[in-house]
Amino acid sequence: MSREDRLAGAVRVTLALDEGAGGDLVTGSVRDVSSSAFFLEQEEPPAVGVEGRFELMDASGIVLETGTFRVVLSQPGLGAGVEILHLSAHSLRPPAPSGVFEAPEPPEEPAQAQAVRVPTLLHGKDLADVFAIGIDLGTSNTCAAVDEDGKGRLLVTRQGERKMPSMLSLLDDGKLAVGSAAARRGVLYPERTVYGSKRLLGCSYEPELAREMQGHFAYPLVEMKGRVFGAALASRRLSMEDVARHLLAAVRANAEAELGRTVEYAVITVPAHFGEAQRAAVRSAARGAGLTVLRLLAEPTAAAIAYGHERDEHARLVVFDLGGGTFDLTLLDVSRKRFEVVATGGDLFLGGLDLDDSVAAFLLERFQRDVRSPIEPTPQQVARLREVAEECKLSLSVQPKTSAHLPHFAEVNGRPVDLSETISREDLEILAAPLLDRMMTITAEVLEGQGVSPRDIDHVVLVGGMTRMPAVQARVEAYFGRRPSLRMHPDEAVALGAARAARAGRGHQLVDVLPLSIGVATPGRRFLRLLARNTQVPVSREFVLPRSEGAPEEEVVPLFQGERPDATANEYLGSLVITGMPEGAQGGIALTLKLDAESVLSASASMAEGGAALTLSLERERPVDVILAALGDYDGPDFERHVARPRSGLALLFDRFRALFGG
Ligand code: AMP
Repeated sequence: MSREDRLAGAVRVTLALDEGAGGDLVTGSVRDVSSSAFFLEQEEPPAVGVEGRFELMDASGIVLETGTFRVVLSQPGLGAGVEILHLSAHSLRPPAPSGVFEAPEPPEEPAQAQAVRVPTLLHGKDLADVFAIGIDLGTSNTCAAVDEDGKGRLLVTRQGERKMPSMLSLLDDGKLAVGSAAARRGVLYPERTVYGSKRLLGCSYEPELAREMQGHFAYPLVEMKGRVFGAALASRRLSMEDVARHLLAAVRANAEAELGRTVEYAVITVPAHFGEAQRAAVRSAARGAGLTVLRLLAEPTAAAIAYGHERDEHARLVVFDLGGGTFDLTLLDVSRKRFEVVATGGDLFLGGLDLDDSVAAFLLERFQRDVRSPIEPTPQQVARLREVAEECKLSLSVQPKTSAHLPHFAEVNGRPVDLSETISREDLEILAAPLLDRMMTITAEVLEGQGVSPRDIDHVVLVGGMTRMPAVQARVEAYFGRRPSLRMHPDEAVALGAARAARAGRGHQLVDVLPLSIGVATPGRRFLRLLARNTQVPVSREFVLPRSEGAPEEEVVPLFQGERPDATANEYLGSLVITGMPEGAQGGIALTLKLDAESVLSASASMAEGGAALTLSLERERPVDVILAALGDYDGPDFERHVARPRSGLALLFDRFRALFGG
């Protein structure tokens, strides 16, 4: 029996808390058991952060798995989200590092590409029996919705808001404020308040990227275990995945309070452009929040579902999604209930926050000119500037001129001075030009890549708060030669679409594509695409890898995701480690890569000659410097020379991000 099957039989758990947490035994029912987490049902659950050992048991009390754990979510009256740190005694192998990458089991059966368990069937429950909500986990705001008899309804928070700021703030007592409570603290305690974390969710920590990104965030960015980004908030360090987990837990609690029932399942949307690692982080965060993800749905597909094209025989749609942090452009073919993503493109670092930063810099420059004194702004001053910059940006969507006023903004010659500046829509549009140019370049690239002309598009759907900006609408209209549809609420469409997709009986056929190519590094560090971007999923491909010189016992294949010709400029996904090669065996290794309907990757390997099954695992933290050094320096074409781009300060920053992430 596979480990997953065995875990599915777990119904009870005993937690032995560490001495520091009192050393108590806590027992309760479990649900949503996976190799990396479970949910303990307990009236008085242990507190967040408590660690210890656990035993998972089946209905007859037989111990199925033991290991160590940490409590990551605690809701008195409900239970605890428990992260599995290590599986021991009965486990066949450690939990998959990314939480979703499922390497095949050791060779009990002949090697075949092994399907990942797509969690649409859980504990024998049919999808149609499951009550689920739709969640749009946005960079700026998070929304949740339900579909009631075909009618979408946005869920309000306990504070009565239709959207919850995607923010989290550390309080003096070490607790966390989430949503608007966190947003209110953001100006006073910017170093303790996390915002925009989705931009770095699932991204590998790179010191240079951290330095660049630090310019956008008042809270200190740090490297966390597993080479991921985290925020250091006074006494607490939270990874970006932890932040997402708290946001999703708050969404769940709000939804349960409003609906008066437990909420265990959700369809969560992600930017179409999100790669493997980012999707894995969202899944894992949801698990920690006690939610089972029925499906990760591309945000534009959700928007297209909300747009309601079931009536059309056939329509070609472009969903243009510009939010606080990311830009996504997706081309979809829709006929009746079939939604087929044809191509997608975007930029994870292009959104409203960038424009806010430019406006903030503009206001500061004007202020310095007026007071004839240079200012080295404190984090509080930067937070105040950003807040007023965003307000100006919003006002300028409806009026041609606006003013920014910040009382007692700075001390000049020992006296407090107010910041009082006016800014016009023209000023804003000049500041926005590099962002708008980049957005339109991506749009043209996606369409041209498919040989599609702007005139072939039947509907252009705008989503994301930034599409309310008149200059964005004007650029879209100029390119497509038609007015984009403003029929949908740009902030709510994605959550409503997700709710529709989550509804029992769904009936939607959702066909997605791989957002970014997946491949390996070859000599000269060149990126060899094994699965190309925009390949329709699900898909399975087999490749024969030549053995390394000397036929070592272990073959290590670093995987990357992105579009840059220099493999190492793309996102490092981890290394496939292949073992079990029979001694003296000839020929290469047959590697099968498989993507399921949600672009979740799985792999298996066998000897190309004779077909003997091999053992394979993905190791995300494995250092690959030695392997890459053996491949030599990058000797391919110079990417920078082939791409014309604007050269403002903002654009230079984007260049850096592109250099690291491809795209
Ligand atoms: P989203 O990530 O879709 O919630 O979009 C949030 C972004 O949209 C933020 O950067 C907001 O400042 C921006 N936004 C919201 N409303 C407007 C508006 N009326 N004009 C310009 N930008 C807006």
